[in-house]
Amino acid sequence: MVRVTVWNEYRHEKQDAAVQAVYPQGIHRTIQEALSPHYAVDTATLDEPEHGLTTAVLERTDVLIWWGHMAHDAVRDDIVDRVYRRVLDGMGLIALHSAHYSKIFRKLMGTTCSLRWRDDGEHERLWVVNPRHPIVNGLPLWIDLPQEEMYGEFFDIPHPEEIIFLSWFPGGEVFRSGVTFTRGRGRIFYFRPGHETFGTYFHPLVQKVLVNAVAWAAPTSGPTPVFGRAEPLEPSAS
Ligand code: ZN
Repeated sequence: MVRVTVWNEYRHEKQDAAVQAVYPQGIHRTIQEALSPHYAVDTATLDEPEHGLTTAVLERTDVLIWWGHMAHDAVRDDIVDRVYRRVLDGMGLIALHSAHYSKIFRKLMGTTCSLRWRDDGEHERLWVVNPRHPIVNGLPLWIDLPQEEMYGEFFDIPHPEEIIFLSWFPGGEVFRSGVTFTRGRGRIFYFRPGHETFGTYFHPLVQKVLVNAVAWAAPTSGPTPVFGRAEPLEPSAS
């Protein structure tokens, strides 16, 4: 069974009554409950020792889900490096919403990952623009979220390998809301929705995207690459 670790900085839920009302157990618990029928799911949070991301935890994690916002700078650089190495080694990473600015996502992308935003609780329509992709299995043509934060282009990421969702907002903005990358042997999916005050992770179609994305991002069982000087495989080559 695929093993998932849901990481949440878990600060808004402790400090802001409006967020606590939406996610009383924390965003990580809501995502854990959504994924648990399908996968073995643990959680980890910023204020645990080593942010809950010890070497042992990461070794047994197939897919890491990351939600962070107000405390990106509090994440230790050595632990970011540890997560980075695991992604290159094949662990899947799903970066959610404001994790676009997390240290780990920016390190993996190599760009600023900046964007435009407006936190007015507007309607968001996520269009499926890659209908054959496994991340949209079982989805309708679009997902309507009645209230979300707006993120608008330009989103300063490298050119994605695949664009899965394109969002529309009533202010006229659009955004590449579901994009994939490969770094080393690791698969990365960035998924835009999930502002902490709107309960987006309770939405059944958002949960379906996350279930599908874990299956897509999980490591495959292909051969492990070997690097460095190579002896010829054929005697005649020497
Ligand atoms: Zn937000």
